[in-house]
Order: sequence, then structure tokens, then C-alpha cells
Amino acid sequence: MKEIKLSAPVSLGYGFGKLMPYEVYQAVIVENNTLDQITSLKLYQDAVKKAQSELELIVNHLKEENDEKSEIFNAHIEILNDIEVNDMILNFLSEGYHPTKAVDVSYKTFKSMLDMIDDPYIKARVADLDDVKTRVLRNLDDKIYPDISNLDEDVIIVTYDLYPSDTATMDRTHVKGIITEIGSNTSHSAIIAKSYDIPAIIGVKDLLTLELEGPAILDAVSGSVIMNYDKETKDKYLAKQQAFLQEKQDTLKYLNQSAKTLDGHEIEIHLNIGSNQDESLKSIMAVDGIGLFRSEFLFMENSHLPTFEEQRLVYEDVSVKFEGKKVTLRTLDIGGDKKLSYLTLPEEENPFLGKRALRLCFEHMDMFKTQIKAALVGSIKHNIQLMFPMVGSIDDIIRAKEVVETCKKELEDQKLDYDHHLKIGIMIEIPSIAMMSDEVCELVDFASVGTNDLTQYLHAVDRMNTDIKSYYQSYSPAVFRVLKMISNSFNAHDKELSICGELGGDEIAAPILIGLGIKKLSMSLSQVAKIKKIINTHQHKTFEDIADKVLKAKTQEEVIEIVKNSL
Ligand code: PEP
Ligand code: MG
Repeated sequence: MKEIKLSAPVSLGYGFGKLMPYEVYQAVIVENNTLDQITSLKLYQDAVKKAQSELELIVNHLKEENDEKSEIFNAHIEILNDIEVNDMILNFLSEGYHPTKAVDVSYKTFKSMLDMIDDPYIKARVADLDDVKTRVLRNLDDKIYPDISNLDEDVIIVTYDLYPSDTATMDRTHVKGIITEIGSNTSHSAIIAKSYDIPAIIGVKDLLTLELEGPAILDAVSGSVIMNYDKETKDKYLAKQQAFLQEKQDTLKYLNQSAKTLDGHEIEIHLNIGSNQDESLKSIMAVDGIGLFRSEFLFMENSHLPTFEEQRLVYEDVSVKFEGKKVTLRTLDIGGDKKLSYLTLPEEENPFLGKRALRLCFEHMDMFKTQIKAALVGSIKHNIQLMFPMVGSIDDIIRAKEVVETCKKELEDQKLDYDHHLKIGIMIEIPSIAMMSDEVCELVDFASVGTNDLTQYLHAVDRMNTDIKSYYQSYSPAVFRVLKMISNSFNAHDKELSICGELGGDEIAAPILIGLGIKKLSMSLSQVAKIKKIINTHQHKTFEDIADKVLKAKTQEEVIEIVKNSL
């Protein structure tokens, strides 16, 4: 048996499967063709054949699961075999182009033709063109790139990082574990793993230099991977998995209860989601609303800027699904570790301190206004509230609110009906705006604290940098002191405040947050039952005592001890 200690898990559980190195495909277009025409043609035809069988497998797989997404991939098969696209590629090949270049140029030409047509249905097809092009190019590459959208055995993915485009189509029946080299508890691969309930260890320094192969057990409880194991070891881990799942099952009885301390203090529990297709939306009954809809996922999963109509449909869908409950829609948060294939971001020394989120939206006013208008119109059940990320100053709030007013006027000019009472709020994630909490209360309807970024900016630690992970102290007393200040202001102004960073659903932090006077927590579905169990089995006074002690603590270790000893 060989056990390798990795690092602290971010999504708990045990996974059994073959270790699968996964390298994200990057297209390389060959400009100078050294191949003869016959070879080029054959390469292209083979790539199309491979792409066709991959797509057929995906369609069959999705059909078995009764998943509507199979239609999308059927459309991909149609594009792959489109006569006009193929004729153009063959023409380029006969002119001596390399197959990668012929495919790239032809798909791009069709894309720009379709881009000019102002029809939402056609616009959606443009995104599909990009997907098909990438699939053909990947099949033209000599190197074998595993396709994680369609697996035939259980695997534990070992990769540098996972992108939203990988996770969107990931075969979730067979992915039993995820290990990545970069990222942390708050990076997007971790958030996705948690929401899919896949055991995961994220941010393992020098992961790709480790010899990880063969069948393995991912112990995402103690943070290690076990290879070359015998039957006895496997049985031991199967028993651990059984006990883990049993405890999870026991906790699940709290899922649909409302969250109320033993002495009657109610706490609102909300969900963090990334899409209107999010699995966790099936558990709407369990929560009081959506505390964070990370709208950027909608943008990242597309290969074109989602149009007004495309966005409106999505927002309307959540508005209807959550009728009677609030849906907090965060405007586009791009920059930092999140990129869009179709939007060129400036090269920056410090992207997390650069043109990110609201700052980027101010520079791309059309994009920003389109999203705000789609939210205003999409809130047909009058339950969407709009939240701006990366607010650093009162000026930012005033400016963002002015944009909302302009959008309203433009909608009126267009005679489009919209939600006139749509509430406006901000994320508190930059210390400078936390310091202005009293003034913020006078300008907004609500706020939500993004503790992932607040921790990063408060400690001056890049949340993606594995090398300095130990400096990113989520439980540092400094974080809780700032939260206390924010909570005091919002309670004094009787304004809605929530926590939507990972701390909101964290078993150590949640008791402290409640003790600090916070009444609304937003988290991924996987955390809901656990947090409700803590709330429903304790007195509010216990949480207040914990918070009092935490505010006097000096180190993160002390904070953890205080909570562990008090519950
Ligand atoms: C946060 O910063 O805490 C947050 C919720 O936003 P994100 O993790 O998407 O940056
Ligand atoms: Mg953030």
C-alpha cells in the first residue's frame, strides 16, 4: 500500500476510482502546412469520425439520464456534418491549408456570418459552432486528451486546474474524486466540487510531479490518496465511507427543517448557485431563497456574450422557480481567476487587484446594461434583487445605481415592462467598503459579505496562490472583528445583511457569525443540513458567548479551539 498525504480536503468524502491525469486541451493552429493534401484530408476525415462517435456516445448517455442537454449535442452532430461548413473546409484543404487551419478559418467564417444575424436562436448556435470546432481540433491533435464528459469507468481526476467549461459537461456518474494543483477552498473548482458533492482536494503543491496512477482511494476526509492497496485496506475504507454516508444521512433529516435556535432565533438559510440548471435547485423547499446567484457562470459556459433575451430567459426561470422567495443575482464577476473566451481582459500584474467585476463592467457599459435590463425584465415574480461585486467605495455604489436608473429609463422608452421595486445591494468584500458600513446602509437595500475575497484583501493574500496558502486565514480574529463592525451597522439600520462566502456554510464559522448578530447565511446545498443541525441544537446565547470569546482571541488556532470546545 502507498499513501500520499496531499493537503486539506475542500469537499469531504471517500472516492474509489482510477487516477486519471487530465490535461486541459489548448488548440494549436498550424500555419505552415508540411503535409500533402491526401494526408491532410485523411486527418480531417478521421477527426470528424472521432468527433462524431464522441458526440453519439454523449447523446446516448444523456438520453439514458433523461437529460434535456442531449438536444444540444444532437445539434453539434448536425453542425459537424453541415454541408456548407464541410465544403469550405475541403476547399481550404485543396488550397494546401493544414487541417487545423482549414477547420479554424472555416468555423470562424461561419461564426462571423451568424454573428451578424440579430436573432437569439441563431446567436445560441454560434456558441455551438465554437464547441464543435474545439472538438474537431482536439481530435486532430496527436496527443490523446481524455474526454471527461463521457467516461466508462470510475475515475479520480488529477489535474492542474479545472475550468468551468470542463465541469459543465463533466460525467458526474463516473467522476468519484478531484485533485488539483492550484486553487483553494474558495476557488471555483472547489465550489463546483462541493455543489456536486464530489470528494475533492484542491491546491496540492507540485501535484503533477507526484507519481499518481492506477486504482486509488481518495480520502478527502484526512486529505490523502491511497494506491496499491490490498483487500483489507479497501474494506477498511469502504467501512469509513459507509460510516461517513450514514452520518450524512442522519444529518439530512435537518435539511427541510427551518433553521431556529433552541431559544427561538430564526436564521435564514439561502443557496449559492451558478446556474438556473443547478442540481441544488431541486431542493428549493429546504431553503429560504437564493443568497448568491453567481451569474458569471452563465457567461463562462457560453462562447459568446449572452444576449439580453438569453439572459432574460434564465433570470425569468429562477424568478418563477423561486416565486415567493428572494433571488439575489450578482452581476458579472469576471477577472481574477475567472475569464471569458470572447472578452479580452487587460494583461495585469495583479488581476485580483485589477479590472475585476464591477470595475470591468463600468468599462463595458453595454454588457453591463444588458445584464441589468435582463434582470429588471426577468424579475417577473418581483423577487430578484441585484447585487454588485467588488465595490470599493461609495462612488462605486452611486455610479452603479445611476446605471440602473439609466437602464430603467431605456426600458421605459422601449415600452418594456420591468420590476419597478427591484432591490439593489452590494457585496462587501473589500475592506475599504467594510469601513464605510454605516454610509453603505444609507445607499443600499441590502448587502452580502463575500468572505472569500474579504479574507484575501484583508490579509493581502492571493486566494489562488498555493504557495502562501497558510497566510490565507479564514478564521483569523481580524476577519471576525471586521464582520462584527459590519453586522453592528446593518443591525442598527435594520438593513438586510448576509454572508455568502464559504464561511457562511462553514461549521466552525457559522456559530460565530450567528453570535455576531448575522441572521442570514448563504451556502452550497451540501452544507445546508449540517449548518441547520448546528443551529437547531443550540441556544443563541451559546453562539453569542462563542462570538464574544472569538473577538478577544489573538490567533486563528484560538478561534478554532473556542468553537470546538463550546459546541
Ligand atoms: C466571496 O468573495 O466570498 C464570494 C462569495 O464571491 P466569489 O467567491 O465568487 O469571489
Ligand atoms: Mg468574491
